[in-house]
Amino acid sequence: MSLVEIKDLHKSFGDNHVLRGIDFTVEQGEVVCVIGPSGSGKSTLLRCVNLLEQPQQGQVFVRGEDITDPDCHLDDARKHIGMVFQQFNLFPHLSVLQNCTVAQVTVLKRKPAEANEIARANLERVGLTEKVDAYPAQLSGGQMQRVAIARALSMDPALMLFDEPTSALDPELVGDVLTVMRKLALDGMTMLVVTHEMAFAREVADRVVFMDGGVIVEQGPPEEVIGNPQQERTKTFLRRVL
Ligand code: ADP
Ligand code: MG
Repeated sequence: MSLVEIKDLHKSFGDNHVLRGIDFTVEQGEVVCVIGPSGSGKSTLLRCVNLLEQPQQGQVFVRGEDITDPDCHLDDARKHIGMVFQQFNLFPHLSVLQNCTVAQVTVLKRKPAEANEIARANLERVGLTEKVDAYPAQLSGGQMQRVAIARALSMDPALMLFDEPTSALDPELVGDVLTVMRKLALDGMTMLVVTHEMAFAREVADRVVFMDGGVIVEQGPPEEVIGNPQQERTKTFLRRVL
């Protein structure tokens, strides 16, 4: 069974038909990078995977469960999916440690002591042990993003979604975040990553998906899609970004 299976997904905002029939799977342990021009529907696709956007047509299966089914317990399904956004979305009034414990306690009903222990372990994983008591405003963008990753990991997700996690960062801070993501991939985490970091996609992705105009134009191993694209639209895009 695929971890995620998407069938004939359509999403419109008003008369803007953004996703135009997406069929797509993510296997357990796979790292999939989604690339494509701005406005092609990458974020919308990612947001449909945990139903932050409600599609008009099609199905999204997570571990075999159809989460577009109105009878599905969406909150339960979402517990297994971590999401990291471009803009970090940390709670500004909570410390780094508290950012990583609050959902563990409220959503997963963990005891505070256990949540603290798990949060600390994940903050160590992203290299932020010394920042546990800091507040987001005292951190660099790269540190904030690593807190966001530790926060998501603290929920023991089966799948991590990343939407351009390094796009808001100063160039010198991008590397630390990519290093953490590379490590996660090596640890076997299943990851769906929207990114413009072609070197990262080339090195880390098992599969690259190129989207344009709300459809998947081509997908395959990075050495094919990035190294030897077959479709004209992919070639044009890569000429612009490489
Ligand atoms: P990408 O991430 O590839 O840049 P998006 O998925 O963000 O593309 O956007 C695709 C299209 O959907 C764009 O035309 C965008 O304006 C539109 N769109 C995205 N989210 C919304 C929304 N919440 N309301 C209205 N239009 C939206
Ligand atoms: Mg986007």
